[in-house]
Amino acid sequence: MQPGQLLVILTLSTSVPLILPTPSHTTCAPYTGRFAPSPSGPLHDGSLVAAMASFLDARAHHGRWLLRIEDIDTPRVARDADRIILSQLRQLGMRWDGDIIWQSQRLSRYADIYQQLDRQGLIYGCACTRHEIASNAEQAGLAGEDGERPYVGTCRAGIAGGRSPRAWRVRMPDEAYSFTDRWVGERTQNVAQAVGDMIVKRADGLFAYQLVVVVDDHDQQVTDIVRGQDLLSSTARQHQLARMLGFTPPRMMHIPLVLDGEGRKLSKQNHAQAIDVHNPVKSLQRAWAALGFDVLPVNTVNDFWDAAVAAWRQRFNIG
Ligand code: GLU
Repeated sequence: MQPGQLLVILTLSTSVPLILPTPSHTTCAPYTGRFAPSPSGPLHDGSLVAAMASFLDARAHHGRWLLRIEDIDTPRVARDADRIILSQLRQLGMRWDGDIIWQSQRLSRYADIYQQLDRQGLIYGCACTRHEIASNAEQAGLAGEDGERPYVGTCRAGIAGGRSPRAWRVRMPDEAYSFTDRWVGERTQNVAQAVGDMIVKRADGLFAYQLVVVVDDHDQQVTDIVRGQDLLSSTARQHQLARMLGFTPPRMMHIPLVLDGEGRKLSKQNHAQAIDVHNPVKSLQRAWAALGFDVLPVNTVNDFWDAAVAAWRQRFNIG
């Protein structure tokens, strides 16, 4: 039986058991959430909000909360950042379940999945430079979404002029894909048109985030993803890829981003400060306020989490 299917035995006069498909992600599936930081630096106010929301949603559902270190993009990995993140989470009273996964230890699994897509005839090499991609999109009059220039499929039928591939792409189906996000509501995107065939293996030989995140969430049996709205525009492509691999896409919730004084997403590149773990309740209250909640009348980390889980349950009608 597939996950998301429920065995319903109806007692009919003929006594034939019927297996009825049910909508995926009924409340029957055990909730598994995750926090998946990229170890490019310590947690800051922005990443703490994503950690908090995913943790609260898992605890509110009496579910599991997994931790995955997304160190696939090795050039962006900062030495010791994973160790610091783990220690920050501990000091903030956020205990994860099960073993931590490091993407850097899963390369052979990603290679297997890549080969599976290749055998399905879905992968092709692409020789286009960034500049060519942008000017081809411009010529085709395609602006793309969020400033992202779509790839127009230049090398889909083969690389012209004897050039070597720089990256490897997967053929995306030309169809509208819709999903319901628990925070922002219904979203629809035609990935083939808005993004184009996406890169699954980069010019530097690394597997792309968009591929590995789909494989990891499937392998960790993640039912629910709670993360920042910067990744909202990645969801349709990730779900499409999941479906191409025969995986059930998880349920989604994209929470608002914490912005700096100039309206930019807080990030390591924008020099966001590491969170203050010496005053954990204060850091937690700040992240809580960024999620739109009122300050909780608590003084300890444990009391904070008890009150926050209760408030989260109420806000999202979690029984
Ligand atoms: N590793 C990503 C980040 O730190 C998050 C990926 C995800 O939640 O899917 O922004």
